[in-house]
Amino acid sequence: MRKISIFGATGSIGQNTIDLITRDMDSYDVVALTGGQNIAQLAKDARQLRADVAVTADPIRLQELRDALTGSDVEAAAGAEAIAEAAARPADWVMSAIVGAAGLRPGLVALEQGATLALANKESLVTAGALIMGTAARSKGHILPVDSEHSAVFQGLVGEDMDAVERIIITASGGAFRDWSLEDMAKATPEQASSHPNWNMGQRITIDSASMFNKALEVIETKEFFQCPHEMIEVLVHPESMVHALVGFSDGALMAHVGPPDMRHAIGYALHHPERRKLPVERLDLAKIGTLNFRTPDLKRYPALRLAHDVLQAGGHAGAVFNAAKEIALDGFIDHRVGFLQMAEVVEEVLDRLSGSQCLKIDEMTLDTVTETDHLARKTAREVIAELNR
Ligand code: NDP
Ligand code: MG
Repeated sequence: MRKISIFGATGSIGQNTIDLITRDMDSYDVVALTGGQNIAQLAKDARQLRADVAVTADPIRLQELRDALTGSDVEAAAGAEAIAEAAARPADWVMSAIVGAAGLRPGLVALEQGATLALANKESLVTAGALIMGTAARSKGHILPVDSEHSAVFQGLVGEDMDAVERIIITASGGAFRDWSLEDMAKATPEQASSHPNWNMGQRITIDSASMFNKALEVIETKEFFQCPHEMIEVLVHPESMVHALVGFSDGALMAHVGPPDMRHAIGYALHHPERRKLPVERLDLAKIGTLNFRTPDLKRYPALRLAHDVLQAGGHAGAVFNAAKEIALDGFIDHRVGFLQMAEVVEEVLDRLSGSQCLKIDEMTLDTVTETDHLARKTAREVIAELNR
């Protein structure tokens, strides 16, 4: 039986992972499940999957979790330390699906103990690409991408030589506002940005899809995971979300990964890798679909894409600044304190203000330097937002 843990089990990726696991329960021995505020779901899944331990990120909710687990053998725990302790428990395969920068530490701990890390938490590679890839190289653990575009590129590279790769193209649906005017985008509300035309995902990533901050994070993620020059990475708007990525080779061939917009494909690929197993996803009928569309993204509508390349050019801790500023700007948008298009202005201003800072010049990346940069960028972003609202 494979020992597995799921970090962020109560979220969209976590629930899709549990959907696959419960179809084949006898193959898995579940070590840890973690969640945040959704205690009822966490307790229900921990009971059903007979996890050793269930952890909520929120220490105030520990008693509630204990009560919900009464009569079961599942241990209850709470807080960031407890999540890190759960990640240190030996497991063969660990799903990293906590949202935001909080996902970095458990992923690092899981890699250190030699697990295969199925990485959905894109913030890990964005904030600390060198650290997480370095940890994977040093430890017995290794990383498999779960973000659909990166899983698609990974699959396109099987058996290929990276030296023969000329281009990596990731696609973007264009999100909720792909056909809106710039004036309408400026007035967009969180409610409008929270519904995605193709994918069913958590609220934050759905809003990030509408602003293409999600794609910007993915451009950085691509560079860090595949260790390619950032000039090689392109983004194409593809409204149907069927082609997830394309790899362009030096002989002119483009290998496209085509599939339904269902995260259970990428999760299942990482779960069964290096095998391919039957997955419960729709089989596409291309004749019925008929047409697939592609267009170049308009950088005026999606300034986040331009910022991603600035971040990659700057290197070092710029990714941590970008991600932290984006998270605070997104909080501001959700709370109606920051306009939809202002999110990119806030992030750009924070990158500018911190470009000369000592904190960004640290050569060696550690969890402490990343955390310190993250805090500084959040503080700066709050200042920038306060100035906007003055
Ligand atoms: P959700 O918001 O649906 O779920 C997030 C999970 O993290 C939940 O289990 C949540 O708990 C938990 N959580 C929230 N805050 C904290 C915290 N501070 N500490 C520990 N746990 C916390 O997100 P998604 O599943 O959509 O996304 C998860 C990650 O995967 C993100 O990094 C996202 O960018 C990435 N991703 C997601 C895709 C998707 O299709 N959804 C596609 C590709 C990548 P609770 O809900 O109980 O509060
Ligand atoms: Mg993606």
